[in-house]
Amino acid sequence: MAIYTCGHTTPDSDSICSAIALAYLLNQTGREAIAARQGELNPETEFILKKFGFEKPLLKTKFAGEELFITDYSDIDLAPADIDEAIVVGIVDHHKLGGITTSTPLECWIRPVGCTNTIVKEMYDYHKVEIPAPIAGIMMCAILSDTVIFKSPTCTDIDIRIVRELAEIAGIEDFGAVGMEMFKVKSQVEGVSSRDLILRDYKPFNMHDNQVGIGQLEVVDLSIFDNLKADLQADLEKLRVENKLHTACLILTDIMKEGSEILVASEDASIFEKAFDIKLENKTVWMQGCLSRKKQIIPFLEPAFKK
Ligand code: MN
Ligand code: MN
Repeated sequence: MAIYTCGHTTPDSDSICSAIALAYLLNQTGREAIAARQGELNPETEFILKKFGFEKPLLKTKFAGEELFITDYSDIDLAPADIDEAIVVGIVDHHKLGGITTSTPLECWIRPVGCTNTIVKEMYDYHKVEIPAPIAGIMMCAILSDTVIFKSPTCTDIDIRIVRELAEIAGIEDFGAVGMEMFKVKSQVEGVSSRDLILRDYKPFNMHDNQVGIGQLEVVDLSIFDNLKADLQADLEKLRVENKLHTACLILTDIMKEGSEILVASEDASIFEKAFDIKLENKTVWMQGCLSRKKQIIPFLEPAFKK
């Protein structure tokens, strides 16, 4: 029986590239594996796969009775709906430990580094398997994406070392230039609906029995949102009501200014204000130095919901 390698819902480049890289590694070590994805690709990931000549992984949302190696999450809210009926054989991830439990022993590679692909590279080294140049290329791009070209506070020395090693394998001299090229693709928002922008990199969370949704857009220049912000705010509130969320946030990250404007729609915005010790103005706030949802937003917002 083949093992499916698959990342979280609303897949990002890390989820897709880690599934591809891990499936190749498993196949090389004698375990039949197929890379899968739970949803459509974002423009950045499409750019990466095209650049290195890969097809999209298999679209798959049902895993009952199948063996599943999870990449880039362990949170039950980001899993396929039938996860309880799947056989989870492994997890490789770099987030806080989520709510997934298993019925059989599993292999876990969870470490606080900047990207799942960094850990997948360590798995290749552990198994002494050579990485083909195109796979090294997509792994490198995923790490540059997740670490915002090393600017994110989630980035570690290990990520930087591994990007250098992968760039060499992939034959790329200027990985910084590839990273910027990638973020320029990511910055294209013209002609995209507000809803599609909010959901492009969106994650649902359960924070002490409150439903919270957080989207993030990382761009080279935040001024591209000047004419879109009012629509984004209105649609964020609409999404909040439709999905019965307590709070919906959209993080607009400027990777050059190294900060984020957060749009907040909430049934009680004082929880957000308390979490970050700030005052919202017109339901938004600029946070200098804030680049990471997992390290700079969630660890503060979640405890604020504790009664
Ligand atoms: Mn991810
Ligand atoms: Mn990741």
